[in-house]
Amino acid sequence: MFYFDDFYGKKILKSTKLKDFDCFFTTRNFVLTPSNRTDLEKEAEGNRIFLKNKLNCDNIITAKQIHSSNISIVEQGKFHYEDTDALISDIPDSLMILNFADCVPIILYDKKNSIAAIVHAGWRGTEKEIAKKTSVLMQEKYGIKPEDITALIGPSIGKCCFETNEDVFDIIIKDKSKTELYTREKDKYHIDLKLINKHQLTKTGIIDVDICDYCTCCMSDIFFSYRKENGITARHSAVVKIKRG
Ligand SMILES: [Zn+2]
Repeated sequence: MFYFDDFYGKKILKSTKLKDFDCFFTTRNFVLTPSNRTDLEKEAEGNRIFLKNKLNCDNIITAKQIHSSNISIVEQGKFHYEDTDALISDIPDSLMILNFADCVPIILYDKKNSIAAIVHAGWRGTEKEIAKKTSVLMQEKYGIKPEDITALIGPSIGKCCFETNEDVFDIIIKDKSKTELYTREKDKYHIDLKLINKHQLTKTGIIDVDICDYCTCCMSDIFFSYRKENGITARHSAVVKIKRG
């Protein structure tokens, strides 16, 4: 279950499944990445320093996200990853963020082995199965079991607001018989990206999944929404600090 929490005075969204871990989603109240909202640059810079101080980390590990299915394994001493839409780390105390405005943010966390990933899955990343690929890579590289992985599917554009034409629908929904993933209204389609990502993760054996009901487009007073704000918007972030095992 997701709930709003207080991070030293800043509003964040957490899941009861990772309550005691530094894993959360930021809100408009705690912007870390201004994107094209240049008016928020100062605030975001201050918030990044605040985050590092409060979590006692010298660096934030992040990536240039390009809606791909490229996955990077975090290396010691390297803090920026080019053209990457998922980060995996097993380095104790490492602090990762990826950034979102409607795309699906996913946190994968193996509490037993202290290995975690953040995945950026917009419709393109969803179609390229980046969530599934990240889960498989975590399991193969570290020899961990899917039943030890907790998955949080965070706030993103919901089925209510993710309306597409047939061309995008055809790309994303390969199996039209899975009617739980979409609804059709005349020549428009509403697609449930969060549910598609959940199915990708459960296919890799992950059982423990928490899925957030919040739609960033409906709740653009709390989250950033690319669609609602016509692309002129900042980003909320998925934040993970790996606990020292
Ligand atoms: Zn909505």
